[in-house]
Amino acid sequence: MTDLSALDVPAPDAADMLAAVRPEALAAPESGIVEVFNYGRGRQGLIPLWVGEGDMATPAFITDAATRSLVAGETFYTHQRGVPELREAIGRYMTRLYDRDLPAERFFVTVGGMHALQLAFRIATGAGDEVLIPSPSWPNFLGALAVVGATPVEVPMTVQPGRGWTLDIDDLAAAVTPRTRAIVINSPANPTGWTASRDELAAILALARRHGLWIIADEIYGRFVFDGTPRSASFHDVMDDGDRVLFVQTFSKNWAMTGWRIGWLECHPSLGQTIENLMQYSCSGVATFMQRAATVALEQGEGFVAHQIDRVNRGRAIVSDGLAATGRVSFAAPGGAFYLFFRIEGENDSRALALRLVDEANVGIAPGTAFGAGGGEHLRLCFARRSEDLQEATRRLSAAILR
Ligand code: PLP
Repeated sequence: MTDLSALDVPAPDAADMLAAVRPEALAAPESGIVEVFNYGRGRQGLIPLWVGEGDMATPAFITDAATRSLVAGETFYTHQRGVPELREAIGRYMTRLYDRDLPAERFFVTVGGMHALQLAFRIATGAGDEVLIPSPSWPNFLGALAVVGATPVEVPMTVQPGRGWTLDIDDLAAAVTPRTRAIVINSPANPTGWTASRDELAAILALARRHGLWIIADEIYGRFVFDGTPRSASFHDVMDDGDRVLFVQTFSKNWAMTGWRIGWLECHPSLGQTIENLMQYSCSGVATFMQRAATVALEQGEGFVAHQIDRVNRGRAIVSDGLAATGRVSFAAPGGAFYLFFRIEGENDSRALALRLVDEANVGIAPGTAFGAGGGEHLRLCFARRSEDLQEATRRLSAAILR
């Protein structure tokens, strides 16, 4: 019989700890923005345009709802799928925005868009699978796929004269293999601002149908479009009830709630029990007080969203016009989202350049190397910020570029 009192087996060497970690966990890459961020962090007067968030705090009518909920004692475990009132509110909001019947049963409240994405990957893909992703792309798509053990297959986008960033559907089709399980489509896109047309989405959907693939549709920037329309084209416009589309959404951007960590996954209601189970075993539900705040954001937040879109529109003009005036900066005008993805003539090493711009301009910008194979020589800046900061950042960057 084992002597339970004798701990006579030597403890392993702490240096061997990492060797015991699962390869999927080790495959999660470090963010490519972090190096520049750490380099510039804390510098006096630095204008931070490197991360994907605006500079406005969550408005009080939203935070007050969270406080009220806490004071009322809503501090217990809650519905795994989300509280019914929020799911109903999401259903009404989406039905209005997309002009089709999108009932509450389609919506599942998650810990931000990132968690919705993680659940979507869990549903659609796993070890040994391939997933197509237009490149450049938001780095978390690649990282989250690595964690589920799937292989991202980057399909290069190109800049076409007069059209800007373009995804060639034939390239996408050519990348399909027997192991392909899903296509990630982020439109409007981070970092390029590419905004797919309805026809392009229909062509992608047809490809997915042909090969029995899932589509993971990240449409979180759908309200941030610059052509005067209320939203970008969406898979909602082209799909049928049975299409395998998983939508990633978030409260982070529209309602200035990045730090809250609340979003939603949308899909066919028949996946409800599966998602409820995945919620149970990942986060066991999103805090009720946050869901109360999110409900108010949807019900009373249209004015705030409109204000943000207007501000982002002005920000876009400031950085685009200012940097173009240097004569050394090139970019495809973004159709949506709130990033300028640009190149500086003669500069090929975006990592070194981003570090240098911290020193020379005191402006924080993300290097294109962070955005997958297709990002290399570009830089990304976020223009969801007050005009004065963007004017000053543009002035400093222009001076550094022309130096
Ligand atoms: N999808 C894209 C394309 C993003 O850029 C982001 C955040 O930057 C997210 C999803 C995730 O948003 P959240 O902050 O809600 O996790």
